[in-house]
Amino acid sequence: MVRRETNGKVNTPQRGRSGTASKQVSAGRSRTSSRPGKKRGRKKAGSRKTAAYKKSKRRKRLMILMGVILALMSGLILRSCLLTVDISELSYPSYIQQDFITQDGHSRTGREMKRVNDIVIHYVANPGSTAKGNRDYFDSSQSRVSAHFVVGLKGEVIQCIPLDEQSSASNDRNPDTISIEVCHPDSTGKFNDKTYSAVIKLTAWLCEEFHLDEEDVIRHYDVTGKNCPKYYVEHPKAWEQFKQDVKRQL
Ligand SMILES: [Zn+2]
Repeated sequence: MVRRETNGKVNTPQRGRSGTASKQVSAGRSRTSSRPGKKRGRKKAGSRKTAAYKKSKRRKRLMILMGVILALMSGLILRSCLLTVDISELSYPSYIQQDFITQDGHSRTGREMKRVNDIVIHYVANPGSTAKGNRDYFDSSQSRVSAHFVVGLKGEVIQCIPLDEQSSASNDRNPDTISIEVCHPDSTGKFNDKTYSAVIKLTAWLCEEFHLDEEDVIRHYDVTGKNCPKYYVEHPKAWEQFKQDVKRQL
């Protein structure tokens, strides 16, 4: 078979001009050469094929990767559009008393909060203090901290910062979290029953409004490692129970 083809197609210049003939010429060249040359020719053609195959495979992979990136980006954009909450449209439960502190550049910076990703629970670390007392402290010139909400020993809820503004409570998570400071009767930091129920109710309401769930409820400890809220850092099971109670309320 090889011999027959070689005889028919040896170096004919005219054939070399046409596309088909040039293929034959190049084939003829390899066929007139010695046996190892034939192998090289075949190898070259083979490696060209392999290279072309690899190139098309790489191109396919690149296209798939670009498709995946595009889909992810559109998903993220769509998600942020769908989950953007218009704060002015929120209808606040009657148990929330709004008593905003003065904008001073520290406790209340006035910085805009564009998105809420988590809700951060704190404890006030001042046993027996009231929600009003803590709110007034945030509003004083000594304070450089604040929280969106303070929940008191009788279950009262005071909102100190509007929800479209950042509070000064959770370090580098201030820009994307809502903060809740919680009062406690003693140094263990455990919330009493009235306070606990009010915090669960408030947290569940925020989760619903901002399309979050119990896994988006975190402790100050989860942000910086600080022992806050003390009892719920030192008792991880109590913290798990807290999140389950939020889930039940949703
Ligand atoms: Zn804290």
